[in-house]
Amino acid sequence: MTFLGAAGTVTGSKYLVEAGGKRLLVDCGLFEGPKELEQRNWQNLPVDPATIDWLLLTHAHIDHTGYIPRFVRNGFRGPIYANAATIELCQLLLPDSAHLQEEDAQFIAKKGYSQHKPPLPLYTVAESQTALQQFKEIPRADTFTISPQFSVRPHDAGHILGSSWLELTITESGKQTLVVFSGDLGRYNQPILKDPEAPTRADYLLCESTYGDRDHPTGSVADALADVIGRTAKRGGVVVIPAFAVDRTQQIMYYLRELEDRQRIPHLPVYEDSPMAISVTDFYVRHREDHKLEFTREEDKDGGDPLNMREVHMMRSVEDSKSINNVVSPCVIISASGMATGGRVLHHLAQRLPDSQNTVMLVGYQAVGTRGRALQDGAKVVNLFGQQVAVRAEIATIGQLSAHAGKSELLRWLSGFQAAPKQTFLVHGEPVALNSLRDAVTSQFKWPVTIPAHQQSFDLS
Ligand SMILES: [Zn+2]
Repeated sequence: MTFLGAAGTVTGSKYLVEAGGKRLLVDCGLFEGPKELEQRNWQNLPVDPATIDWLLLTHAHIDHTGYIPRFVRNGFRGPIYANAATIELCQLLLPDSAHLQEEDAQFIAKKGYSQHKPPLPLYTVAESQTALQQFKEIPRADTFTISPQFSVRPHDAGHILGSSWLELTITESGKQTLVVFSGDLGRYNQPILKDPEAPTRADYLLCESTYGDRDHPTGSVADALADVIGRTAKRGGVVVIPAFAVDRTQQIMYYLRELEDRQRIPHLPVYEDSPMAISVTDFYVRHREDHKLEFTREEDKDGGDPLNMREVHMMRSVEDSKSINNVVSPCVIISASGMATGGRVLHHLAQRLPDSQNTVMLVGYQAVGTRGRALQDGAKVVNLFGQQVAVRAEIATIGQLSAHAGKSELLRWLSGFQAAPKQTFLVHGEPVALNSLRDAVTSQFKWPVTIPAHQQSFDLS
């Protein structure tokens, strides 16, 4: 097993497993954050993609899938295994990611401040479409045999629609080894998604550690949202939420809809600013296996769709996107990327940050080195499009909306194992979170724990 990403950091998830002369990659994520980390997206993998036989995905998030078009362009020709909801999400997210990169490259070319001339996107929309043709659907919850060496059984991880943790059985020289990949783990007792399914056994375990050092705030999400939206609307401001049009958006919509129905917030237009803006509701109706929401015809008739505000505008073109700049009355703008590392949200930040009436609401994890993290940490100025932009808007973090298990939820999931894995590898976390979770696991369970380094290999025997 070789850790090709998310080792000592939260992004770029890629785990290479080799057995019987065959190679399987689990997840194929993009690195996001500081420049030196993002540079890795442009470097070749230490293993030629043409020599990798299969790719298997835990879920659709870009830090687990966003490298796929580049991986295919660099020679990977095998099948990409994922469940139905993950495939459908990737059909939206990968071209969206490519669009954002093309838009950024064009914008940079126009402004002329790039070091590369001409600035190129990491991959194009056409390349993302080519990669999508290699996707093959696997069952949501049944065992799937990839080859004589590898078979996988996915379980609901409760993190986003389609998210799974995986039991991978590796067979080599007649010996079987069970490796569990946690993928990203979700929360317990959430309104839309189900709880993460409990694990039972593993010879080796890879566990995510995003929030390995802390728990999320316990207060009511609805109250926190009502406070932030209410006070922003009262002062005539706009709420900008960095997020993709799928994923966090439906949670926010669910709560906002409830608040609107109970008249706890004023009636506000919502602008979903994405080239791939979609109705999240249709998506949830098609993938009922993944959540516990109920949609009835009655609700549809009286406009009681639990995932849609009364006034939602889907902004697909760049002109649509620009027109939001003219909106001066209170509204909510949701735009990618979620950590403000690129994409259309940067234009909204440039437009709205200098005005103290406005609010930037952070609803997802903000990795070290991203603009989102800088804002969260109280930066007074951020760099956008080569300009220093003053931060006068309110910066609010709604930690309760996190899609990731907090520390005690990770420990709760780990407590499902009935015996100690031979080795537990902690991944997908920043050093503070990794160390804190390692200490908790060693003291609570007495398991051997390793924090692998980037590109480190281990013999799983
Ligand atoms: Zn994720």
